This record gives sequence, C-alpha cells and structure tokens, in this order.
Amino acid sequence: MDVRVSQIEKRSWVEVDLSQIRKNYRIYKTLLPKESNIIAVIKADAYGHGDVQIARLLSEEGVTHFAVSNVDEAIGLREAGIKGDILILGYSSPIYAKVIFDYDLTQTIVSEEHFKALKATLIPIKVQVAIDTGMNRIGLDVNKDKDCIRIIREADKIFPLRGVFSHLSVADSDHQNDIKFTIEQIEKFYLLCDKIEAKQIKLHCKHCLNSSGGIRYKEYLNRGDNSCLVRLGILLYGMRPSPILDTPMGINPALSWYSTVSRVKEIKKGESIGYGRSFVARNNMKIATVTIGYADGLRREFADNGSFLINGKKAKILGRICMDQTMVDVTEIPDVQMGSIVSVISNEQMDQSVDNMAKILNTINYEIVCGISKRVQRFYYNNNNFL
Ligand SMILES: *Cc1c(COP(=O)(O)O)cnc(C)c1O
Repeated sequence: MDVRVSQIEKRSWVEVDLSQIRKNYRIYKTLLPKESNIIAVIKADAYGHGDVQIARLLSEEGVTHFAVSNVDEAIGLREAGIKGDILILGYSSPIYAKVIFDYDLTQTIVSEEHFKALKATLIPIKVQVAIDTGMNRIGLDVNKDKDCIRIIREADKIFPLRGVFSHLSVADSDHQNDIKFTIEQIEKFYLLCDKIEAKQIKLHCKHCLNSSGGIRYKEYLNRGDNSCLVRLGILLYGMRPSPILDTPMGINPALSWYSTVSRVKEIKKGESIGYGRSFVARNNMKIATVTIGYADGLRREFADNGSFLINGKKAKILGRICMDQTMVDVTEIPDVQMGSIVSVISNEQMDQSVDNMAKILNTINYEIVCGISKRVQRFYYNNNNFL
C-alpha cells in the first residue's frame, strides 16, 4: 500500500494529495470561459480536507474568492493569513457585524428582515444579496423583482455591495423536468441581474452555479463580462457532485483515510465480538482490532456492510463499531499484525472509495468527508510525479 506519512503512533489519519487538488482546479479552469472565475467553497474545513491548506494552495493558483458557511470559519482563514474575498454564505446574527467589518469579510443578506437588522448596526460591512430562485432556503424572492431591486438599491447605498447570488436545487439531475427547472432558475437570476444593472448598480460578482451547475450549465457563464463566477465545492476535491454526474477527465479525489491494527486474535466458533455480542463466529477465525471508531467519524451503520483494506485485501467489519475501535475479519489475510496499516478510504480501490462508502451508508459523499472528525489528523503531500 502506498502510504506517504509515517504512521508511527498515529491511530487514525487522513492524507490529502495537494497536487491532485491543484490539478483539479487547473483542469476545471480550462473548461471555463476565459473571463469566468471560481469562488472556492471551503466551508466545513474544506469538506474535511483542511481549509487553511486548501486556501493557501488555491491562493498560489490565483484564486481570490473564497466562501465559507459562518463567521468563525471566515475568521480562522483570515487569522491564517488568507487574503482576498471571503464570503459567508449563510445567516450571521447582526451581533457579528463588528467582527465581520474588522476582518474584512463579506456577509450574505438572507432576507429583507436580515437586511434591516444589519442596516440598523450602522456598520458598513461588505455584503452580497442572496436571491431565492426556487430552492426556498435563503434569499429575496426572485419573483418579486421590484422588492429585490428596492432592497438591493438601498443596500448599495448603505453597504459596499459586492454582488448577488442564487443557488440551484437540481442541477445534478438529467430528468427533463429538473433541467427545465434549473434553466428557469438560472434565467430568472440573470434577468434580475440585468434589471439591477440597468439601474446603474454595480455587481462585482454574480453567481448561481455550484459544482453540478458548473459541469452541466457552464455555457450560461458566457455573458461577456468577468463578474460571472462558479461556486465550486465538491469538484475541487475531485469528488462527484452526484452519483449520476462524472467528474471531468483527470479530476480525481485527493483524500485518503487510514488507521492501524492494534491487536490480532484467534477466536473459536461460537465466540462473540464486541458490544451487544451482535456477531457470533460460525467458524474459528482470526480477527484484528483497528484503532478507529464512530468518534473518528466512522458511522456505526457502516458495520452492516462495511469493510477496510489490509495488506491489499478486504477485511469485513465484525460486530458493532465502538467509539474508538472496530474489529474486522482477517482470517484470510496473511501477515496482519500490530501496526499493520488499514485503508479506510482509498482512491485506488473502487470498493474503498468515498462514493462506495456513501452508497453503503445510503448518503452522499459530501457527508462522509465532512464527517471525518477533528481528532483525525490531516497530513498533506505533493505527488512528485505531478504534471
Ligand atoms: C456548499 C455550497 C456550494 C458548493 O456546492 P458544491 O456542490 O460542493 O459545488 C455552493 N453554493 C452554496 C450556497 C453552498 O452552500
């Protein structure tokens, strides 16, 4: 197995191939119209990859727009020295207006009520206005365009107005109805932008495409100016935005997750393993204990169908996943011992991929990587034979 980090004393750790992320960004950039750019979505610690590392790398690549979910994430990036626009994509209480200003962050306005509350602080923070084109999550209702324009015009007078954005609900889907819905969302959004700009209000950035939109609908960026951006999240990390949407050629996952074996034991037919004695051996077998559990983000449901890779071979999970430890079947795997490396997520093996883990858990790959807990240390490397 290709392990690049010394695993001495590590019980569960993640390795991120920075050169792969660089490559993902560069490849995606070549697919965009020349004048378009990306907003790197690095919320939730860059989907578990480590936001500061990813922001530094992308800054080197020339990225100047970043997006996060909340004030704390944004401050963390600034404290680490990240420059450029940092957009907070969701609601922040007006209580934070002062820190948003002090750290030169950009706040999303999520509603008229939010706008009024921010205005009342008298602090001239940078803002972007969210437009609700059908997601029904945040934003001013695109169908009430007069209200949108009135509020945005007022916002432009009070705050440094950076731009407007919307969010697509079904951009990954290839069903006719969903395609129609998405195109309507995009067209309503740009039509509103046109109306705003017709009032001589300058929009520095306009964006409504996420990764799925940025694969399927990027032709909508071709509007002849450089203010149209894509908010790229999952694709930067090389993962598919949806099981039905393949990543463009060369864009691949960059994250691997490992653990180690602490002990190997022979057990006899009839013996049980772990809490609840839920697994009972039907034969004599050899089991290994792995130093990973649900407190590391390995979900307990994974026990039902999950497995790891040890010495290149599949080791099925036996019994319940504990908080810090998990037992696996190594009866057929030779040379497993204390310190053997265990592959939890690996990109070389389909069975061990993040997509497969998501499938087993009946969820999406996003949730898997975001769920790898803080105590799992992240390591970074650059692939020497890159480019
Ligand atoms: C998370 C998020 C994105 C990124 O979505 P991906 O599917 O990961 O590209 C874009 N925009 C908003 C508003 C988000 O919350």
